[in-house]
Amino acid sequence: FLKGKTAIVTGSTSGIGLAYAKAFAAEGATVVINGFGDEAAIEQERAALAQASGAEARYDAADMTKPEQIAAMVDKAAAEFGSVDIVVNNAGIQHVAKIEEFPVDKWDAILAINLSSAFHMIRAAVPHMKKAGWGRIINTASAHSLVASPNKSAYVTAKHGLAGLTKTVALEVATCGITANCISPGYVWTPLVEKQIPDTMASRGLTREQVMNDVLLAAQPTKEFVTAEQVASLALYLCRDEAKAITGANLSIDGGWTAA
Ligand code: NAD
Repeated sequence: FLKGKTAIVTGSTSGIGLAYAKAFAAEGATVVINGFGDEAAIEQERAALAQASGAEARYDAADMTKPEQIAAMVDKAAAEFGSVDIVVNNAGIQHVAKIEEFPVDKWDAILAINLSSAFHMIRAAVPHMKKAGWGRIINTASAHSLVASPNKSAYVTAKHGLAGLTKTVALEVATCGITANCISPGYVWTPLVEKQIPDTMASRGLTREQVMNDVLLAAQPTKEFVTAEQVASLALYLCRDEAKAITGANLSIDGGWTAA
């Protein structure tokens, strides 16, 4: 149902972002993937997406800390494919440390990648969506856009900010055929989660098993990780015409975490 539509997904060389790209491609969308990683592996993913969609798939190396590269990615996609219909602001990084030891450069990078990049993307994409009279803005927030956890000051701040940005944009574009929503997963088993295990082990003096069961899944009543495919299928639903009344929402997909 996405034939003829163009979707840009930031941070889609891995994890949840790649799952979004696959879901859009499976529905026939032209996809622009983005993020860091091994060049050959990215090319392989890109080719697989093009094959799955029967449309084009392109990789854009824009660095989410660089506003001009973000705007250029949007304008290039619009010039090449005629429109930018769906943007998913998904790139994100994490760092775990006590506030008094939190590295200043990590704070700046998390705010830039997890929050400001979405502002720059939306700012550049909205004129194209307004022209088309249709658009979908989907932001991967987090359960941490609704609740906090210790030692994640930058991440929790950025995700709460992303939820606020989403609501504001939803109001601004409400009569333009454009929706803006957050998807807020609990713990999804991806490289981002795997990478924070050693830091959490160190900062809390725990074993790997204790971090998995007593820290990560402690907050998730279902005691199961969310899957990237479950998150992607919610994004796909938001792109359907029957979802056009859903805007400004922060949709939890967190195994009951934020219900507790
Ligand atoms: P991941 O580490 O697998 O993927 C992150 C992606 O962002 C990668 O493609 C990476 O290359 C890209 N990226 C990082 N820095 C970038 C930069 N400067 N410019 C461009 N791309 C950059 O992580 P993931 O778990 O798939 O996370 C995706 C999103 O989901 C993030 O916003 C994260 O905060 C959010 N999220 C994840 C979980 C979880 O449990 N995994 C839970 C809630 C929210």
